[in-house]
Amino acid sequence: MSTVADVAVKGDHWIGGERVSSPDTFDDVSPIDEQVIAQIARGGANEADAAVRAAAKAFPGWARTDREERARLLHAIADGVEKRLDQLAIVETTDNGALLRSHLRGVMPRVAHNFRFFADRLLGLAHDDFDTRGHRNHVSWDPAGVCALITPWNAPLMLATWKIAPALAAGNTVVLKPAEWSPLTASLLADITADAGLPDGVFNVVQGYGEEAGAALAAHRDVRRIGFTGSVPTARHIARAAAANLTPLSLELGGKSPLVVFADADLELALDLAVEQYDNAGQVCLAGTRLLVEESIAAEFAERFTARAHTLRQGDPRDPDTDLGPQVHREHFDRIDGFVRRAKRAGATALIGGEPNRDLGGLYYRPTLFTGAAGDSEIVNEEVFGPVLTMQTFRTEDQAVEMANSTRFGLSATLVTGSPERARRVTEHLVAGTVWVNCFFVRDLQAPFGGARQSGVGREGGDWSFDFYCDVKNTVFAPGGWNG
Ligand code: NAD
Repeated sequence: MSTVADVAVKGDHWIGGERVSSPDTFDDVSPIDEQVIAQIARGGANEADAAVRAAAKAFPGWARTDREERARLLHAIADGVEKRLDQLAIVETTDNGALLRSHLRGVMPRVAHNFRFFADRLLGLAHDDFDTRGHRNHVSWDPAGVCALITPWNAPLMLATWKIAPALAAGNTVVLKPAEWSPLTASLLADITADAGLPDGVFNVVQGYGEEAGAALAAHRDVRRIGFTGSVPTARHIARAAAANLTPLSLELGGKSPLVVFADADLELALDLAVEQYDNAGQVCLAGTRLLVEESIAAEFAERFTARAHTLRQGDPRDPDTDLGPQVHREHFDRIDGFVRRAKRAGATALIGGEPNRDLGGLYYRPTLFTGAAGDSEIVNEEVFGPVLTMQTFRTEDQAVEMANSTRFGLSATLVTGSPERARRVTEHLVAGTVWVNCFFVRDLQAPFGGARQSGVGREGGDWSFDFYCDVKNTVFAPGGWNG
């Protein structure tokens, strides 16, 4: 047991309603000051197998629990999240370095909302029956079984519960493998589910490294669904492991999304949206990291963007005045710095930033904007996942669309224009799972979420989540009054 920001957090696994340790542990390091804050159990094949077996044992009972009771328990978990919101927020900030004010105002309330939303959605889940020559076709959503959920560090509890909530609502049991750089709030969530009265084994947590605990879960033959959020290279490993058992996968992956600014845009709005791409120190999958700006306004845009970016306050993420905190981990910080150094060597110019923040030291990287990078260069095409944007210019609408669609990703795209006709034309041709027009990051949980091209496979959100986490079944009744 560790005390993190005055909150007691256990670093071991949660399997079958019990705390389980491993022979080995690893250090959990806070990005704020690179101090060790907890010891985390280093799970592997044994722990993954124990958790899957516990989840498989709990499955029949949970699958047969009626919808109203499942929904009630999900709301009880949401109550528990709300009750411990301050604790969850400070622990997450200490663990992954994201802003405390964001955790308090937006992220943790959204965690509770994930449970409430899917609980309510479950109760409304229905499909019209079809009639075929007097035969009634009845569609139902049967729970699939044990779901292995493997999640990243940039918004750990929010992204995990986005999968946990629908999987549990649908009547599945869950084994969560949180990211090794931010393992703590998953452990607190286990406590919350137990307090809420969730039966033992319905929700399990296996801690550990991806290549060990994650890989063992992905390859487990008794896992019926794999829900993964993370990077493209890891997704390839997971897809290979899943192939052996043909386990259905949902993959929510990285991006290199465009933010397209036309000359007819409200420039103030465009600048607000562009600077917002540094949120969470740039560690946001949906971030529009490629600024594509119409040539006629590019000089003014660059000048005003630079002035705004200079007003961003970088520092301790617990300070309510901070806009940009540290990067999550030394390894990730070095990776970002590698991208920046190579971009400079390849001829790009850092209009702002382009280096670590030496005044603050530690894991603080200066918000960076590159101009002059070649269209086929690494910095324009690869996901950095840090506070690094590029700016390129275009002359025509067709060229803007072509540039926007020019990477192997397709997670999101943002368009800033004053013309509704242009918005209609351009959005029609953008390749992306989510497109924003004159806004960013707003999304209804009923809407589908996912990525085109290498940004993902499948969609989650609303009924799409139930489609994935269920075996959707059609039962056909012969004519004669057997109407089920
Ligand atoms: P990652 O792929 O390195 O790790 C994600 C998870 O996979 C972690 O829990 C990790 O332990 C596990 N893992 C690693 N190797 C594994 C293996 N061989 N087998 C099984 N599991 C393994 O990603 P990350 O660095 O944690 O997160 C950043 C990435 O996630 C970025 O690419 C970002 O764009 C993406 N992301 C996508 C979304 C989305 O919704 N599309 C949301 C957030 C983050």
